[in-house]
Amino acid sequence: MARRSALKRLIGRSQLRRRVRELAAQIAHDYRGQQPVLVGTLKGSFVFLADLARLVDLPVEIDFIGAASYGQARETSGQVRVYHEPRCELQGRHVILVEDIVDTGLTLEEVRRFLEARGPASLRVCALLMKERAREAGITVDYLGFVVPNDFLVGYGLDCAERYRNLPDVYVLDGEG
Ligand code: 5GP
Repeated sequence: MARRSALKRLIGRSQLRRRVRELAAQIAHDYRGQQPVLVGTLKGSFVFLADLARLVDLPVEIDFIGAASYGQARETSGQVRVYHEPRCELQGRHVILVEDIVDTGLTLEEVRRFLEARGPASLRVCALLMKERAREAGITVDYLGFVVPNDFLVGYGLDCAERYRNLPDVYVLDGEG
């Protein structure tokens, strides 16, 4: 397939598995005796959330929030819109926002603000990936899988115009993609 040649593997499935297991263990330790709500950002976090939720040894609840800034483009539009709200009652709950990737941090900021307004007992962020530029900008999260280069990534839930989400590894998408 011509398009496949534009994909360069960055993080393999076993490395992902190992790191997600570590994050799950850390969360299970920190929330022992509690029932946190994992709120995944649509759609990119669905694979990470599914793996994390199955590895975390806690009676978690699952919900989703839909926030979009990129649309079909590879660059952020700079405006984040919440298009799907979580259905769970979040007031007084321990909420863990599960993000696929932090790039400019705009989505994270907007979603965090949105969730804070629901009055959770606590709110922490677990992101699988963070781009170098976000780290350099001083953006921090409570649980982080990997710092990644400022490339456009696909796979393990991440798409380009809705393609590649089902690839089991994380790839850099070059050129034509
Ligand atoms: P931010 O608001 O931090 O700039 O971008 C966050 C959102 O943009 C992510 O949740 C994801 O949907 C999308 N995004 C950012 N970087 C990438 C990337 O490298 N690949 C893909 N597929 N989506 C990205």
